[in-house]
Amino acid sequence: MKCGFCGREFPEEAGYQSCGTCPLAKLKGNSCGMVKCPYCGYENPKETGLVKKIRSLRRKA
Ligand SMILES: [Zn+2]
Repeated sequence: MKCGFCGREFPEEAGYQSCGTCPLAKLKGNSCGMVKCPYCGYENPKETGLVKKIRSLRRKA
């Protein structure tokens, strides 16, 4: 996914891992629902399946 702050692309999994130390993640179990950018630390809202679908359609067009 693309970071909304620095604009760099990174795998969504990397964001989840970096969120492991987030206090919210501990409260809610595993994830706080945000994807933290490994480059700048900005917490991006998690992309929904619908957003990904729209984006993939745009790429084809
Ligand atoms: Zn970033």
